[in-house]
Amino acid sequence: MGNAIAVLNAGSSSVKFSLFVARGDDLELQVRGQIEGLDTAAHFIAKDRDGAPASEHSWPAGTTLGHDGALDHLLAFLRAALAGDRLVGVGHRVVHGGPDYAQPVVVDGSVVAALEALIPLAPLHQPHNVAPIRRLLERAPDLRQVACFDTAFHRTNPDLAQRFALPEELHDAGLRRYGFHGLSYEYLASVLGQFDALTASGRTVVLHLGNGASMCAMAAGRSVASTMGFTAVDGLMMGTRPGALDPGVVLYLMERRGMDVRAVETLLYRQSGLLGVSGISNDMRTLLASSDPRARLAIDLYCYRIRRELGSLAAALGGLDAIIFTGGIGENSPAIRERVCRDATWLGVELDAAANAAGGPRISTPGARASAWSIPTNEELMIARHTGRLLQ
Ligand code: ADP
Repeated sequence: MGNAIAVLNAGSSSVKFSLFVARGDDLELQVRGQIEGLDTAAHFIAKDRDGAPASEHSWPAGTTLGHDGALDHLLAFLRAALAGDRLVGVGHRVVHGGPDYAQPVVVDGSVVAALEALIPLAPLHQPHNVAPIRRLLERAPDLRQVACFDTAFHRTNPDLAQRFALPEELHDAGLRRYGFHGLSYEYLASVLGQFDALTASGRTVVLHLGNGASMCAMAAGRSVASTMGFTAVDGLMMGTRPGALDPGVVLYLMERRGMDVRAVETLLYRQSGLLGVSGISNDMRTLLASSDPRARLAIDLYCYRIRRELGSLAAALGGLDAIIFTGGIGENSPAIRERVCRDATWLGVELDAAANAAGGPRISTPGARASAWSIPTNEELMIARHTGRLLQ
């Protein structure tokens, strides 16, 4: 019998989950999965640690399962899946911890209220992240919960890196650069020492390239700057988000195109990035396989934006010792890694083409001044570790 920890990542139309059990010093994945289509035709799927199907269920089209219904189903499934292990707590992925949460936190009523007060900072994600926490507090008050934040890892950024050049009153009101993907960066910082001492202790830029994409400059494993800012729209070009954009564009769209806030939000979160530029897809695999010039343009712009931001983060670090690729694109696309590495030759990166094609982990030549790596991230495990530690 071991101690088990469930991890929940609740989004607008899906809830992802995983279950870990303590084995020795670490946590072992038992089962993971998701319920998606919460408001349309909900579908539940769970897979064991080898990826083999463990359980599946579909609700008839037209039934609205909703987040509460999904949570009830998940709890029942997890309790059945425990098989003698004891569920000691649930860790939640919460997008925003505001200026103050620099660490994960054990949840009680006042913490939930504080997290709900941050909803205006991340209105598309925070409500969905926090709702299941409140629901579990009510439904299973004895089940302990921990909130882990995407912003927390960046609270080590120097004050200057967190500021906009806006009037001080707005900074004090919370308009500052928070940064995101922190659980991914923290996980990588925790494993870099297993790969290379200088990469762990030196000036390292991690590229988290998934549907959302950002980069983090780390000095000795601590975040000193990142490309995402007040929201997860800033920085790199992404699947459907543009990344850094002159704010004057938004003013123009509202004034001259008559777009309201919701229309601009839809443009910036759902219609831009790889999808908007290519007009074809937000999926990098589709674009890489396409011979359409618009797909090529989207990929060219994607890599160009990385090149520019990498220079900026290297400047923040005062040099560069290593770059790490992670996320769906970073871990799986030798073609994008190759382009980014070749663009970073001036920073001392030298690609080892064969190692890159083979997937790494090291993808630079042995003599390169700055090394390059491809290392899978594991945000769920990071959340489970925090949860286990805090609830011990
Ligand atoms: P999320 O940010 O939603 O967690 P992922 O980290 O899974 O997303 O990344 C999704 C992206 O990874 C998609 O653009 C997908 O096309 C891309 N991707 C996955 N596998 C490959 C691959 N073999 N080659 C190129 N891109 C890939």
